[in-house]
This record gives sequence, C-alpha cells and structure tokens, in this order.
Amino acid sequence: MELIDTHSHIYYDKYTDINEVLDRARDNNISKIICVGVDIESSYKSITLAEKYDMIYATAGFHPHESKDAKKNYIKELENLLSHEKVVALGEIGLDFFYKHSDKETQINIFEEQLLLAKSLDIPCIIHNRESDKELINSINKTKNNNGVIHCFASNLDLAKQLIKLGFHLSFTGLITFAKELKHVIKNIPIEKIMIETDSPYLTPIPHRGKRNEPYMVKYIAMKIAKIKNIPFEEVATQTTKTAKEFFDI
Ligand SMILES: [Zn+2]
Repeated sequence: MELIDTHSHIYYDKYTDINEVLDRARDNNISKIICVGVDIESSYKSITLAEKYDMIYATAGFHPHESKDAKKNYIKELENLLSHEKVVALGEIGLDFFYKHSDKETQINIFEEQLLLAKSLDIPCIIHNRESDKELINSINKTKNNNGVIHCFASNLDLAKQLIKLGFHLSFTGLITFAKELKHVIKNIPIEKIMIETDSPYLTPIPHRGKRNEPYMVKYIAMKIAKIKNIPFEEVATQTTKTAKEFFDI
C-alpha cells in the first residue's frame, strides 16, 4: 500500500521537526510528497528540501496571492527552476478573487503567462481557484493549456465535470472531511481523475482539526473518499497513487 501527498508547503518554519514529519509519513505508507512553491523564494526552498530528501519532489511557480510581487524577469527565473531534475510541475498558479491579495488583472496576466510557459515546456500545472470559476475557464481556453490539476477543489459538480472534460484532474484536501457539499462532487466523478493532498500546514482534516497539518494525514482524505464512494480504502490508495505517478512522472 502506498499513498502520495501531492501538495504540501513543508518549507515553513513550522516544520523544524521535518525528520520526524517524514518518519511519520513513511510509517503511514506515504511514499512521496510534493512540496509546492508559491513564489521564487519558496520554490527555491522546496527544491532545497527535494535535494536533501529522496521522497520529496518540488514545484516552482507564482501563487495568485503573490502575483503582485512577480518581477519583470520572473518567467526566466521560473524557467531556470523548472529545469531542475526534481521539479515536477509549474505551480502553484491560479486565481483567487476571494482574498484578492493581488488585483484581478495582475492575477489573470501572471496566471496566463505561466500557463503558456508550462505549455511551451510541456510540464503539468498545479492550479488554485477560489471564486474565479468563470475566469479560470476563460484563461484555460485562451492559452489552450489543459495539462493540470485543480488543487483543493472546492467548487460545484458542474465545474468539476467541465474541467474533467477539458482533460484536468481534481485534487482534494482535508476540506472534504468537514465541507459536506463536496460529497456530491466526489460521488459523481471517476476515481481515475482524483488526486489527494494535505495542503500542509493548512486545512487539517478531521480528526485533527486545530493541529498543524502534515503529509501523513493524507490518509484521512483517502479514507473519506473511500467512504463517500463506498469502495475499499486500498482501491483509493492504489488508484490515486497511480494517477499521481503518471501525472507528475515520478
Ligand atoms: Zn497550496
């Protein structure tokens, strides 16, 4: 049995106990962890972790929150980071019109520039989407890039089906252990299109709400999917691991 945490931010200071965090992950059959950058600095930190630990892989990209800070030459810098052998995706990129830490126009520009970069390098994308369903589809259609996963999927079944039809995968976090409306989405999409993630240190799943999240807790997300779909836990583990390995080529 094997599980993969496809999205974590374990480069934060909160993880001074990283060796124990990874031991707990191994003890719980987590074979690989993807550490996701949100700007140039955190992408470097993710790569440093990936160089140090076999089971960790990295990504590089500009999160919508940070897109206002992207420098003129950021595409060149990203291109350079993406050539590293342990960098497996461009991300996290996307749109967030809930927090609006960066203005809408900047977010859309930076998102589309990165979608085009990923397309030209033939590397998959990790996409964040919050209260921006319409604009997300617009940018995807405009750039014609459909090689991606929508991380922490939290929209409705209509959007889920639309994205799957376009070729995207959907990834679920601990949110599904307490946000009841996502049950309907999970029930009605194929298991082959699903990946699992913790988004550590955020979104700690039940039964550990209130504590720091960490990669081993991805098992609770797999358990919840098994329960919702009424299939064995092992089947969720096998299928989501297979999907993640193919998607990230790891
Ligand atoms: Zn994230």
